[in-house]
Amino acid sequence: MTTLIESDEHKSLRAAVSTFARNHPRTLGTDNGHFWREAAKLGYIGVNLPEAYGGGDGGITELSLVLEEMGAAGNPLLMMIVSPAICGTVISRFGTEAQKQDWLPSLADGTRLMSFGITEPDAGSNSHRITTTARRDGTDWILTGRKVFISGVDISDATLVVGRTEDARTGRLKPCLFIVPRDTRGFERRQIDMELNSAEKQFELTLDDVRLPADALVGDEDAGLLQLFAGLNPERVMTAAFAIGMGRYALSRALDYARERTVWKTPIGAHQAIAHPLAQAHIDLELARLMMQKAAHLYDAGDDMGAGEAANMAKYAAGEACVKAVDQAVHTLGGNGLTREFGLASLITASRVARIAPVSREMILNYVSHQTLGLPKSY
Ligand SMILES: Cc1cc2nc3c(=O)[nH]c(=O)nc-3n(C[C@H](O)[C@H](O)[C@H](O)COP(=O)(O)OP(=O)(O)OC[C@H]3O[C@@H](n4cnc5c(N)ncnc54)[C@H](O)[C@@H]3O)c2cc1C
Repeated sequence: MTTLIESDEHKSLRAAVSTFARNHPRTLGTDNGHFWREAAKLGYIGVNLPEAYGGGDGGITELSLVLEEMGAAGNPLLMMIVSPAICGTVISRFGTEAQKQDWLPSLADGTRLMSFGITEPDAGSNSHRITTTARRDGTDWILTGRKVFISGVDISDATLVVGRTEDARTGRLKPCLFIVPRDTRGFERRQIDMELNSAEKQFELTLDDVRLPADALVGDEDAGLLQLFAGLNPERVMTAAFAIGMGRYALSRALDYARERTVWKTPIGAHQAIAHPLAQAHIDLELARLMMQKAAHLYDAGDDMGAGEAANMAKYAAGEACVKAVDQAVHTLGGNGLTREFGLASLITASRVARIAPVSREMILNYVSHQTLGLPKSY
């Protein structure tokens, strides 16, 4: 039965991940391949994947818990949002037996990664406008198109690319998903120069008549949005976990500082102008986590529709809570908030990611306005 109180099993998973992540400090922006593999050995990366394929047989509930704790320790693994959560989920729910055998064990044990590409330069938030097109040539598929802001393509063995079939070029998106191995001919990447101090880089991709075998297609070419959202809802829950972890990390650094730093008679944390915004940040993060847990529980219980609304709300709440927590943490440290030594300033840009990706704050407000509140659309 679903309960709002965390089970003993989840509490001990939380504690174990926290200890593990704190024992593996790393400098932001440096390669985290070693940390990824160590985490995978302990079963953390594949905790949501089926046991029959080397996973932990848990769900997005457990995977989001792992990512949140890594983030709270200052050690988040961005690719967890993509490799096990989106790609692993889509393959385990819709892949063929051969695709499952091929990919799931290595995604679970961390020896291979898969990135995910939907965003396009001319479509942006309007995914219905994507033009990456797949046409048949005999039994092969030929893919043509462009993608932008795709994370971790250089460290991934393949990218799960969202395209549309040729006869569905216009109108509402009927997406189809293809596994494109990194070194496929015609599949080029260019790193985007981001103001982000992160180990995971973003890439612009071009697919120029990329020839793929029939079995590169994951799922049914007619299954449409259902299949896509099987991956996108976990992505939203995981982005919420990423944001909550980062917010908790920033808050904890600010609390340490506010307890010690004394410029009048008492530590600065005694001044309510410092204490109250930190208390508010804590409350906002807790509330966002509650919504994230609801979304994860609904998703794991098989309620894709219910999970959709909750995952959007959780991502929204977590993104906002993260941005506010980081902002207040930086402010709490005064000038030290902007030094490299204290490491909080770079979180100002990092925290904005959760407001923009994978779906922006405004697009979530649009969703809630239309889907939940029944208001008319402006676009
Ligand atoms: C660090 C990072 C990593 C990423 N990783 C990936 C990845 O791995 N894979 C992937 O596919 N994508 C990835 N993305 C892309 C991300 O999902 C997009 O940036 C996001 O969906 C927004 O699209 P856009 O940047 O084109 O903004 P746009 O769609 O151009 O939006 C610009 C602004 O206009 C607003 N806006 C747009 N339409 C409306 C409307 N109807 N009503 C109100 N406001 C509106 C938006 O909210 C936003 O503020 C990543 C992005 C970042 C920053």
